[in-house]
Amino acid sequence: MAEIEVVKITPRGYCYGVVDAMTMAKQVAQDPNVPRPIFVLGQIVHNRHAVEALESLGIQTLDGGRRLELLDQVPDGATVIFTAHGVSPDVKRVARQRGLNCFDATCPDVTKTHTLIQDKVRDGYSIIYIGTKGHPEPEGAMGEAPSGRVALVTTVDDVEHLGFDPKTSLAVVTQTTLSQWDTQDVIRAVQRRYPGAEVHNEICLATQLRQEAAVSAASTVDMVVVVGDRRSNNSNRLVEVVDKVGGKPAIRVEEVGDLREDWFRDVHTVGVTAGSSTPSQVTRAVIQWLENYQPSNYANPANRT
Ligand code: SF4
Repeated sequence: MAEIEVVKITPRGYCYGVVDAMTMAKQVAQDPNVPRPIFVLGQIVHNRHAVEALESLGIQTLDGGRRLELLDQVPDGATVIFTAHGVSPDVKRVARQRGLNCFDATCPDVTKTHTLIQDKVRDGYSIIYIGTKGHPEPEGAMGEAPSGRVALVTTVDDVEHLGFDPKTSLAVVTQTTLSQWDTQDVIRAVQRRYPGAEVHNEICLATQLRQEAAVSAASTVDMVVVVGDRRSNNSNRLVEVVDKVGGKPAIRVEEVGDLREDWFRDVHTVGVTAGSSTPSQVTRAVIQWLENYQPSNYANPANRT
């Protein structure tokens, strides 16, 4: 009998946008008619295991820069896959001009925010985009607006530094994977400063449902383990909402090897959830470790492996 009760929080793990992106990339890799080499512009989804799975199929991931800079590394005649986070129109234009063979794995929910920004810009609005600095999704979505008509804010403090004239028509658009609670604070700050701003909360349903399930489960457990990559925005937000809204400690691990016995010494019930880019086998290994956890193994060093 397990010494810790493990609550498997649902929904958790892969969302449909990630499933579709991984499926597309695998199909591209298996198609002998697709020109080689094949590159992904950035991590297909923010998870090392998912990236390695594609590498094993011969797909190379270009990482560590803005999408437009990464495009320079793709040789003429090659194939390039755009990730689930979406890319700016400039990236698509340059790829097209260079005659690269392109596949677009942008999640439909991200595409929806691109279309919204295009429509609002066409109607004369400027855009306040609430998102995470340095993340590829804001980079792509904000590229839909001309510079000078779009600004990124991450925190309530950032709102104070916005330079839009109060008479400007403003649309507020959010990244899809934010914390719904933190985002409300930032939206309220924008509305205080610009009362006429039109708000479009674009946090996707997959993100909302995972956050709500994690917060709800937090009331029944001693702590929550979130399985997710350090670069996964939605995984980091799950840790944050369990802590701030659910009022319980939460830790993020990337894989089973990150778990430490001493974290669970006084824990009776642990909830497990996973970011929407975490493969299920990685989460399963974490759940199995917790289900097999015996405090005696920790108390007696001779039992440790
Ligand atoms: S988290 Fe949401 S926006 Fe991102 S890939 Fe999944 S469904 Fe799409």
